[in-house]
Amino acid sequence: MQECIFCKIISGVIKTDLIYADDHIVAFKDISPQAPVHILIIPKLHISTLNDTSAEHQNLLGHIMLVAKQLANKEGIAESGYRTIMNCNADGEQSVFHIHLHLLGGKRLGGRLVRS
Ligand code: AMP
Repeated sequence: MQECIFCKIISGVIKTDLIYADDHIVAFKDISPQAPVHILIIPKLHISTLNDTSAEHQNLLGHIMLVAKQLANKEGIAESGYRTIMNCNADGEQSVFHIHLHLLGGKRLGGRLVRS
């Protein structure tokens, strides 16, 4: 899936400073941050949307959440709080079709989940 921008980051074709990497996951700063801390946590496995996951991805999805918690601690936002978001398809405003969890924090994010 080398046409996928996140696969290109994973393979090193696009150079990006990784905040975290293990056998299954990488994390890096969002190129267009919406908060002082805005990190994307993505699986190395190309999965287009959350709709394309199944029971075989259960450990991977859980791992992504636990890495989000770990990175929130590392970034110093665990106690102040943060938000995790995974957008899906058009109504979810997903723009990169390789699943990713947004980790946002470092300011009060507001009570609304969506813009009116
Ligand atoms: P979504 O709209 O949920 O699909 O989120 C995609 C995110 O990827 C957006 O917040 C973009 O700013 C971010 N993004 C796109 N290209 C890059 C890149 N090369 N490096 C880091 N973040 C990126």
